[in-house]
Amino acid sequence: SDDRFRGKTIIITGAGGNFGRCGCLYFARRGANVAAMDNNESALNETLLEVADAVGSDANIRAYPCDVTDPASVEGTVETIYVDFGRRIDMLWNNAGYQGQIRPTLEYDPSDFARVMNINVTGMFVVLQSVARRMASQRDDKSGGVRNGCVSHPFSIVNTASVAALRGTPAMVAYASSKAAILAMTVSTAKDLAPHGIRVNAISPALIGPGVLWTRQNELHASSGSPYFSSDPEQVAKDKIGG
Ligand code: NAD
Repeated sequence: SDDRFRGKTIIITGAGGNFGRCGCLYFARRGANVAAMDNNESALNETLLEVADAVGSDANIRAYPCDVTDPASVEGTVETIYVDFGRRIDMLWNNAGYQGQIRPTLEYDPSDFARVMNINVTGMFVVLQSVARRMASQRDDKSGGVRNGCVSHPFSIVNTASVAALRGTPAMVAYASSKAAILAMTVSTAKDLAPHGIRVNAISPALIGPGVLWTRQNELHASSGSPYFSSDPEQVAKDKIGG
């Protein structure tokens, strides 16, 4: 069986959402201690119910309602998690995100642009820094991450970026900009944190369908007024998969 994560503690942000909920299930099934963070308390409770259903009473998961755009709340929540799980955090999946409006550049609302950046970029950084400080303090040796000539990185942070960051995404300028910033944040913090034994990586998922999300996204693209998309959601879907 897969014991890599047994007894390790992971914080997952956006744990009330699709990806975060799957992550909670994945790590709870493998015996990890899971701190589930989200600002949507009812979605968070749904996640806990699903994990309890799937994994049973062996699951070690707790819910931490927290808005990543509130630095004081993030710091307080991370400290509570740190204490609750025996002063040890091994992993962070920094995954909370907001897609913002689906509108072409000329019509995009600058205040929504700021909101997207605040959640996806500043919020992600605040969580990363708060968790990384504790990870760095947990290291029992001060060998700068080098042990027996090898770099040793016991702690891991994964940020959720997106393929939207990579090639220009019509009608989603704020989201694409925020996800590109996450890629830069990832490589930059990876260098700063390597000497503290902390790995930082990013994942860039594509839009995954079929499902509610896929359908909703195609509807939003169809109504965006962008010439890159048909005004018929079914045609948008066909165009995306090249059908
Ligand atoms: P989702 O909307 O289901 O989940 C996102 C979660 O983040 C929600 O539960 C929401 O409550 C939470 N959140 C939003 N703002 C928050 C805040 N201020 N504080 C705390 N929590 C907050 O979306 P998802 O599909 O699960 O996406 C998860 C991540 O993956 C996001 O970063 C998203 O941008 C990224 N992503 C998703 C896709 C996709 O196809 N679904 C593709 C690429 C990247």
